[in-house]
Amino acid sequence: MPFWGQKDDANKPQQPDQQNVQNEAVKFNSLEEAYNSLLNSKIKSPAIDLAIKMSDMILEYAIKERASDVHIESQSQNLRVRFRIDGILHDVLSVPKNSQLPLTQRIRVLSGFDPEPPSTYRNEEGRFQKLINNRAIQVRVSSFPTINGEKLVLRVLDKAQLGLDIEQLGMDAETMAIIKRVVRNPYGIFFITGSTGSGKTTTMYAMLKNINTPAINIITLEDPVEYRLEGINQSQINIKTGFTWSEGLRTVLRQDPDVIMVGEIRDYDTAEISLRSALTGHLLFTTIHTINAPSTIERLFEMGIPPFLMASSMIGAMSQRLVRKVCPKCSKRAAPPGEASVNEFIRNLDPFEAKIVKELLIQPNAEYRVANEDGCPECRGTGYLGRTGIFELMLMNEDIRREVLNHSTTDVIKKVAISKGRMRTLLMDGILKARAGVTTLAEVIRVTATMV
Ligand SMILES: [Zn+2]
Repeated sequence: MPFWGQKDDANKPQQPDQQNVQNEAVKFNSLEEAYNSLLNSKIKSPAIDLAIKMSDMILEYAIKERASDVHIESQSQNLRVRFRIDGILHDVLSVPKNSQLPLTQRIRVLSGFDPEPPSTYRNEEGRFQKLINNRAIQVRVSSFPTINGEKLVLRVLDKAQLGLDIEQLGMDAETMAIIKRVVRNPYGIFFITGSTGSGKTTTMYAMLKNINTPAINIITLEDPVEYRLEGINQSQINIKTGFTWSEGLRTVLRQDPDVIMVGEIRDYDTAEISLRSALTGHLLFTTIHTINAPSTIERLFEMGIPPFLMASSMIGAMSQRLVRKVCPKCSKRAAPPGEASVNEFIRNLDPFEAKIVKELLIQPNAEYRVANEDGCPECRGTGYLGRTGIFELMLMNEDIRREVLNHSTTDVIKKVAISKGRMRTLLMDGILKARAGVTTLAEVIRVTATMV
């Protein structure tokens, strides 16, 4: 029996019972097995039907494996499919090119492209939605012409997987409580900082979702719109048509907004308008490209923002990274690091910060774990399974405000934020997660050592 159902399934009306379809399709251990079974049954179906089934199957497996992106790549001989899982690409399928299945055409059509790629280079971006396992999965598609043919990247946006609730981001109870108060501020601006792929967009969406009610007008400016949220007015920046960040923001301000999300601030105009509107009764969330929370202030100085404007409009800044969670199936308990290695590790830190980090590392009652290098089937041999955030939250207070007005350096602001604002750095928050056995010290060091 073909795995997608018996022959007379075709005559039955389409049921919204997608659950069964899902279970049928992912009964194989791997996408490769599913693909082979599909090919063996090809005498019974036309190629396009198989391509439709294959594209569905790829998405079903992507969801099952918690992939964030699916890469479908033309290579010289093969068509390769890779999944990005917890930030790392894995080969999941490699089939001969000119394969029997018009797979890329199928995905092109779903994305709203012409079935055949354009003969001259053109940037193509599309999106479609698919019901998988009773969940509406949004897929954003980008096509890229390589010398071997087309490469398609499908960003899979699964709301359940994204964890669009503040509770799912990985914050400790105290940070979470503060963030829930921040999003209820009547006005002011709050910055989220972190590198690409640090989860900051997900955090911003979770914050907006937390306050999304009919009573307030929430407008976003994004590039690109990552995920569509019900009840929120999202708009897409388009430099070509003149809908730039600053122009977009001026337009938004004429739309009677309560809360504004500005995807990114990278120029003086956008920064200036954002901070001024935060002073005049609007609440803004935005991201900015800096290595940690305190350096947000220096970044704004560099853009030419006057200290008084910052000091009076800023609620705070939060930096974040994603760390891989250690696999619960195959990881092992580990001893705390010895004094000598701790001293070696903190050698390059600011002495004030080093002292706190050392205390955290050697405090008793830690549940440190190490990843199993060989991994297990559960974690695809990586030793890690899933990811969670680590956070560095700096709230504006009188002490920091004074430093801002003094035009102080990031180092000074950071020190004041730790000593007077009880700020926990990314490293400190990461160590707490390692102490709890959620992740490993090696992973925390790897992630926090990366500069932007
Ligand atoms: Zn494992």
